[in-house]
Order: sequence, then C-alpha cells, then structure tokens
Amino acid sequence: MKKGYFGEFGGQFVPELLMPPLRELEAAMRDILPSDKFQAELDDLLRNFAGRETPLTACPTLSAELGVHLWLKREDLLHTGAHKVNNTLGQALLAKYMGKTALVAETGAGQHGVATAAAAARLGLECVVYMGATDVVRQAPNVMRMKLLGAKVLPVQSGTKTLKDAINEALRYWIAQQDSTHYCFGTAAGPHPFPTLVRDLQCVIGRETRAQMLERVGQLPDMVVACVGGGSNAIGMFHPFVDDASVRIVGVEAAGTGEPGCYNSAPINLGRPGVLHGQMTMLLQDADGQIEPSHSVSAGLDYPGVGPEHAHLGAIGRAVYGMATDSQALEAFQALTRREGIIPALESSHALAWVLNNRDKLPAGGHVVVNLSGRGDKDMEIVREVLFREGELA
Ligand SMILES: *Cc1c(COP(=O)(O)O)cnc(C)c1O
Repeated sequence: MKKGYFGEFGGQFVPELLMPPLRELEAAMRDILPSDKFQAELDDLLRNFAGRETPLTACPTLSAELGVHLWLKREDLLHTGAHKVNNTLGQALLAKYMGKTALVAETGAGQHGVATAAAAARLGLECVVYMGATDVVRQAPNVMRMKLLGAKVLPVQSGTKTLKDAINEALRYWIAQQDSTHYCFGTAAGPHPFPTLVRDLQCVIGRETRAQMLERVGQLPDMVVACVGGGSNAIGMFHPFVDDASVRIVGVEAAGTGEPGCYNSAPINLGRPGVLHGQMTMLLQDADGQIEPSHSVSAGLDYPGVGPEHAHLGAIGRAVYGMATDSQALEAFQALTRREGIIPALESSHALAWVLNNRDKLPAGGHVVVNLSGRGDKDMEIVREVLFREGELA
C-alpha cells in the first residue's frame, strides 16, 4: 500500500509549508512512540490520570429484549468524559518528547478542546484552541472549561464558523509556529500521519475489549459497533479486529433528521470521494464539489468528512456503515438510561440506536459490543429541549 494511503483514500494533500512538521511528526512516531520509556509513561497516564482500563459492562435487560449478549465498552467513564483523552494524552506526551512547548488544536463541540487543554495542563504545555465563532456561543460551558484549564480559545470568523473552519485556521497556525508547537488533531482523519497516529493511540479500546472478551466469555465478539464522526473511537475499536474474519464490524453515521435530502453527517453512505483537510476521503459535497454543511443532533458527529481508513474499510466491504437518525439516537439514549442506568453521549447513542433498529442484522445468541464513546452529561441541554418540546418530560 502507498505510504499514508488506505486503498485509494488518505494521502497528504497539503501546502508545501506543512510538509516539514508532518515529516517531523512521522519521524517521532517511528523513533519515539514505540520506545519502552514513552510507552511506560503513556501507560501510567492512561491508567492513573485518565482511568484505564475501562470496564466491559453487560446489559442484561436490553440483551433479553434483543436476543443477543449486549456489552458496552465504557469509554464514558474516562476523565473528561469520553475516549478523546486517549488521543490527547498520547499526542501531548509525544509533543513533549519532541521538545515542543505548546499544543494547538481545533474543536467543534469543545470536547476535543477540553481533552487537549487537560492534557496540556497536566504535562506543562501551552495550549491554543481554535473554535468556530458559532460554536463558541453554542458550547459556552466547554469554553469555560478550556479557559479554566489554561487554554487560549480563539474564535474563528471564516466560512460557516464551525469545526471545518477551525481546522483550517489551526493548520495555518501550525505552519507559522511549527518550531514550538505540535498540532494535536482530534480524530483519525486529516493528512498522513494523523489518521495512523490517532488510530494507534485509540487502539487501546479494541485491545482491551479483545482481552476482556477472551477472559470473561472465552471468545471474541461476534460484532463490534461504534459511532463514526471523524472516526477515532470507531477505528480504535475496529482496528484490532480487522484481521479476525469472524468479527463483524459496524460503523454508524449520523443521518440527521432522516428526511430525503436533509443535512446529515453520513459521508460514507451519502457522500462522494474528494479532498478536504489534507486527505482524500468520502465527503458531503454538492454537484460542483463544494463541501456541504453537515448536521447531527450530536455535535461530536457533525463533520462533513470521515477518516480515510473508514472510507477504505467501507469500500472493500470489511466494515458495514449504517446510519441512525437524530430521533432514533434520542430513543436509544432514553432506552439505555432507563433500562441499564447509564446516560450515554448522543454520539454513542447513534451506535446503540443502530443495534436497537436492526435486530435482523444482529448475530442471534451472539456477543455484540457497542463502544460507549462518551457520557451524556454534556448533552443535558439539548435532550431537555427536544424531550420537553415533545412533551415526554414534564
Ligand atoms: C467527539 C466524539 C465522537 C466522535 O468522534 P470520533 O473521532 O468519530 O470518535 C464520538 N463520541 C463522543 C462521546 C465524542 O465526544
């Protein structure tokens, strides 16, 4: 396979000025990341700062209803509330070993910004976070958290003033500040080597799941399911199982309202190949190739592209990519909360929604693991708005 490519997807579609820091990062991944010293220090951070390993939780009530053994990989229990800290701790530590003194990051809903700011504070790095001006207003509590953690939050006024524009600004900043600064990218997407770096840092999810299943059940799962925004929690779960032909792999994209032609965040299902943010991948775009705005009730899935490894796994048929709508996700959110006592993030609720709505596709009597990428505390406001409007809560 061509370096930095997953089949026909991936690559490094970047301005020449971005090549030196990308090459430097690639060298650090080769020379620093695998070293015993680095791995031991990262392991200690993941264990004693972030809270690994995360439990694998059985769901007795939903299992009985579905006719499968349903398990949850509990990334929601991690520090800062989601899987994102696996990535930010790894990249922050790598930056430190590379001699960098600062991190720059993009953020949409603010979750990656908070996880980056926490890692930077812990490791004594400066932190700059670009955030679309619209998102700064929508996500005020996360802006507050980032500032408390010592990060400088810079609102982006260009384009649609959301995540896509924040990534462009952060890349520009990185070009100017590459000597002192590492770009802590938030998902398994972007120019090579980010899709590989972020995947390798998130694979702890799938490795633990494999070991926990073998220890508790004595077999591998029959199916693993995860929601796909940029694709980092999903590829972290999927990658360690790709060579196990018996394990079915299901990614779930956000279908938005589900009406024909509605804004959505499902580029594998509803997009076409194209180039954005340094990568060739599946993208939501109009007839002229202009990027279309994305939408999902879950801010963390709201991205018009997807990591190139998912585009590839979909193209070769090794993984299946389904969809869940906003309302299906909200139903799954309530189902897990009421039946199993766990309040999931709306992103993770999409993965669960696919399971609840595709019973005919589940391995009857088999073991299904859903990656519970995050907790729902951050989503109280949006859940309250929707459920009060629909009269389901009084
Ligand atoms: C950010 C986020 C996602 C989506 O990002 P991926 O890179 O696709 O994993 C999913 N779940 C939660 C809880 C998130 O915070």
